[in-house]
Amino acid sequence: MSETTLSGYFDYNATTPLSNSVKSEMLKALDIYGNASSPYSRAQESKALVDSARENMAQLMGAETSQMFFTSCGSEANNWAIKGSLARHAKNPGHIITTAIEHPSVLEPIAYMEQVHGFSVTRLVPDVEGRVREEDFLSALRPNTQFVSVMYANNETGALQPIGPILEEARRRAITSHTDAVQALGKCTLDDRILAADYVSFSAHKFYGPKGIGGLYVRRPGELAQLIHGGGQEMGLRAGTENLVGMAGLARASEDCTQLLPEWESHYRRLRHRITRKLQDSGLGIEFNGPQDPSKCVGNTINFSVPGVRGEALAALLDHKHQTQVSIGSACSNNKSSKSSHVLVAMGLGDERIQSAIRMSFGRYTTEDELDRFVNNLHACAEQLLGISTPS
Ligand code: PLP
Repeated sequence: MSETTLSGYFDYNATTPLSNSVKSEMLKALDIYGNASSPYSRAQESKALVDSARENMAQLMGAETSQMFFTSCGSEANNWAIKGSLARHAKNPGHIITTAIEHPSVLEPIAYMEQVHGFSVTRLVPDVEGRVREEDFLSALRPNTQFVSVMYANNETGALQPIGPILEEARRRAITSHTDAVQALGKCTLDDRILAADYVSFSAHKFYGPKGIGGLYVRRPGELAQLIHGGGQEMGLRAGTENLVGMAGLARASEDCTQLLPEWESHYRRLRHRITRKLQDSGLGIEFNGPQDPSKCVGNTINFSVPGVRGEALAALLDHKHQTQVSIGSACSNNKSSKSSHVLVAMGLGDERIQSAIRMSFGRYTTEDELDRFVNNLHACAEQLLGISTPS
């Protein structure tokens, strides 16, 4: 499948396909079989691949290679940052600040630290557009605040959080900070202040790399406890024989991103502007869930509700009739029993609006024509569900 033929797919926040350049590096890596930890010459090629992949990741973040660690995914990176950092406070558990709109891979380890280890937690509630307020963060700070975790961009609404000021303030007060940048990397230029964070998580399959590999930026590796014990891989902090093929893919995805992000970012913004206008003009009375100001949002994500139509039914009909895929929440929340988006609930939206919500996320090769076709198909499906037209 070529990179340009993913017609009808609008769920790039759930996952992206492999780009051709990534795929080709991964295919080459399949023939590199030495164990990177072995001392003999045959392992040198593997070791070189690990080192150069780490360099690409470091370049992408503007960090030192000694601060970049491979993980198996974004979820592991989040769990590691939270549990690995808070381990040193286990004997005097203090206060954590996070938000009510984090991904479950942040919400759940923090709830675990609260329930099992006795930390107290403040979960910041966003405004109606899905952004937490800097002033709420400032008022939540306590003398015993030990850890802050605020996501960079929300996966359901695309809302960018005021991450620069939050990270700087945490740093000024010597509070350990983490940001989940899984949905920001590869979609928007990161704020220079991101390196004020102690930990930054990311995941290759969200920016055209493979599934099964992610990364964690660690400002001071000496302060992070191990999550996976065993051999001495990852500078002694994460055991397990290296996923060379995944690393080759992540390395190439990072390199492409370092070079081409400005181009993709403006493509996303153009597409978002166009579909916003088309949806506004659709006559369906569409309500947008998320920041109205496009500069407060990643360009590839748009979340909206079609009044009177259940999102689940609309998504299913779009898939069935037009082979078109959108999401009604995050991909992970589809595995959970509760179907209401915790993000839209936290924003204070009404139940009907939440049940009608659709998340659409575009990719690098999505075209304006595809978006126009999408709006036409959406219109026909919504009318069918509203009983305005008869099914064809
Ligand atoms: N954080 C956010 C904001 C996400 O959207 C996701 C995945 O959707 C994750 C973390 C988890 O990443 P992974 O799928 O690599 O575990």
